[in-house]
Amino acid sequence: MENTKINAWEKTLNGLKTWARINSPWVIHYNSGSCNGCDIEILATLTPRYDLERFGVKLQGSPRHADILLCTGPVTRQSRDRLLRIYEQMPEPKFVVALGSCGLSGGVFHGSYNIAGGVDEVLPVSAYIPGCPPRPEAIIQGVVALLNSLKEPKG
Ligand code: SF4
Repeated sequence: MENTKINAWEKTLNGLKTWARINSPWVIHYNSGSCNGCDIEILATLTPRYDLERFGVKLQGSPRHADILLCTGPVTRQSRDRLLRIYEQMPEPKFVVALGSCGLSGGVFHGSYNIAGGVDEVLPVSAYIPGCPPRPEAIIQGVVALLNSLKEPKG
């Protein structure tokens, strides 16, 4: 009986945490070697014209407060360790979004001597947003798809 109460309490608490995470995801952005094209599109996505904040998304600077790591560009050998350090500082559960052709595969920089590869060569990626650079609409679609995938299965 006691265990049933605890399970019901945990289920309610987990549901509340998931609800809060989906409705107010905090995002940290990291450029791991991008040409800045993707980064400019992220900025455009945050402007009132596209208004990513209407989904509760907040861009902020500390990995310790972030739910989602938005990573642009191929991962250069120089930035690889920093990317890993940022990811390790994020609290669980955490999610990585690879943005742009470079984030997906290294893009035009693929095979270069100083490139470790796409983001998923270094970190587990939850969502991919292709494009060079992806348009704000694509960025919004990718982020919303990730948030929808975090909803607990019904039933
Ligand atoms: S995907 Fe295109 S815009 Fe984005 S970093 Fe690579 S080259 Fe630049």
